[in-house]
Amino acid sequence: MLKRRSLLTVALILVLPSFAQAQEKVKSGHVPTPSEFLGFEVGADRKLADYRQIASYFKALAAASNRVELERLGKTTLGEDMFMAVISTEENLHNKAKYKEIAHKLADPRGLTSQQIDALARDGKTILLLTCNIHSTEIGSSQMSMEWAYNLATSQDPEILRRLNDSIVLLVPSLNPDGEIMVTEWYRKYLGTKYEGGQMPYLYHHYVGHDDNRDWFMLTQIETKNVNHMVYHEWFPQFWLDEHQMGENGPRIYIPPNADPVAKLVNPLVHRGNNLMGADMGWRLEEAGKSGVIFGYSFDAYWPGGTRNTGWWKNMYGVLTEVASARIATPVEIESTELQGGGKGLTTYEQQINFPNPWPGGVWRLRDIMDYELLVSGAALETVSKYRQELLRGVATMATQAVQTADPTVYWRIPLDGQRDPVTATRLVALLLEHRVEVRWHADKKLFLIPTSQPYGRFVDEMMGIQRYPEVRPAANSGILEPYDVAAWSLPLMMGVKAERVAITPDVQNSSLKLETVTWPTGGLSGQAKFYSVVDHQNNVFALINAMQKAGADVYFHSLPNFQPPTIIFAAHPQLAANAEKLHLSLEALLGETPPMQAVPLKQPRVALYNSTSPRMTKAGPAFSSNNTASN
Ligand SMILES: [Zn+2]
Repeated sequence: MLKRRSLLTVALILVLPSFAQAQEKVKSGHVPTPSEFLGFEVGADRKLADYRQIASYFKALAAASNRVELERLGKTTLGEDMFMAVISTEENLHNKAKYKEIAHKLADPRGLTSQQIDALARDGKTILLLTCNIHSTEIGSSQMSMEWAYNLATSQDPEILRRLNDSIVLLVPSLNPDGEIMVTEWYRKYLGTKYEGGQMPYLYHHYVGHDDNRDWFMLTQIETKNVNHMVYHEWFPQFWLDEHQMGENGPRIYIPPNADPVAKLVNPLVHRGNNLMGADMGWRLEEAGKSGVIFGYSFDAYWPGGTRNTGWWKNMYGVLTEVASARIATPVEIESTELQGGGKGLTTYEQQINFPNPWPGGVWRLRDIMDYELLVSGAALETVSKYRQELLRGVATMATQAVQTADPTVYWRIPLDGQRDPVTATRLVALLLEHRVEVRWHADKKLFLIPTSQPYGRFVDEMMGIQRYPEVRPAANSGILEPYDVAAWSLPLMMGVKAERVAITPDVQNSSLKLETVTWPTGGLSGQAKFYSVVDHQNNVFALINAMQKAGADVYFHSLPNFQPPTIIFAAHPQLAANAEKLHLSLEALLGETPPMQAVPLKQPRVALYNSTSPRMTKAGPAFSSNNTASN
């Protein structure tokens, strides 16, 4: 059970007088800096803004600046308002509907001539999505986001204005606001004690902890759904930059190119675009005297579960950065002898071509993290503005290639008949629609058909197909490179859904309808009875068991050698029909006044959750790992 800690820390009390002053300045048209507004030096040692303070700053910024607007993304798991800032010139913001429309057309250019695509690329703006702080202990980017937004909102530098004229920035200060609040509250609680900067004993996402960055193909969490909808149904950004932090004892920052292996189905233009940005990031960091910059390290280009990776299969450029951590906002001092390599791309901590200027050791603090992040954020905007037309045209090229290189008669076929769990099969289709995959439905409504020839066709093949991990050997006679993360994600295998990739005959193709929303199997009770049965191999049956036991109804398990497969028996109850309907389960009425012979009553288990005082995410808190554990 996660309990919210009191916000009444000394730090917050100190904020109040200057908050009022800052409000006055907003009214007079003055754009406040984050530090002015919050009443403490943002980025200073041992100072953190929590998500509510960050949100209040962005509201003030949007009120004072005509270059910043806020958009609500939805609620979080624990009920916070999740938002993003849209930052560009006043004129671009005024025309944002037009630029969204251009981005949408470039993402799905079917029916357009190459001249029309060129015209869209000329008239469009590159849309850069920058997401921060999905991992809550990787706190730097949430603080940095305020400073960067302030800089963009107030700069009169002609180069910054040119970049903003060419681009629209979508800035998400935290992809997990609940966790950002938990981490800042925990940090403040132990500030000044011997536990300062120590790790929270509970997960920083209510359900999935660190794996909120494993959810981007499965979309199980509300935060992921919020952002997925904004990305693939509203804005169609061409470039996604996701800023993370890693362990403290290795390089200072990871930038693209990625390490091996590389996913077969991703269009190579994605990596070319990513590497343009990586090259610019490296240049700007080095130019500013920032050492310890590495590429081709640890983070592979193979896995589709994280934020920007999922978009690779949807013709979107996407870049990860990872900055070395401090102990949240507490500085760390690292001796040169403590610096170490490890992982792909840097076996020992030494100068090499992907790491030309090693950091020598010393003090590393929140301010350093934010300064590196400000530079890479600036380089990202520079890249997308400088290569605006090429990047926009590249998205259309990739989408066209996805359509044209696939066989138009080949579809993924998901039948409802003969499916072990038709509700889960439908759920798989609903998930693909959420990903903005085009799905068709056979006129008899018993068959889903997913064309492989479509803009997101490679994403379809990646999700529906079976993965074979590539055996990349960095040197002759060496072992193969290990994956960064999981190595397979086939949705039909994971969900137990029967699906096949087959050629569809023209008559079936012609009788299929475009599916906008799925129709779920009809649930309910067949007739009046004292008892009802349903086969037990449907996932929702377990949800129904829990719901009915909670309502106080009797539930039985029934299995006979000649009665395949086993069934679950539900005693009649006023809530049974509504729950069965809600869960799309069809229950058969049984004859008789008593449950079937040999039906075993199911006991309602008592579930206890044990909350240990030792951290549950030992690998996930990069700020505290003694080694160089990466954290993507
Ligand atoms: Zn991370």
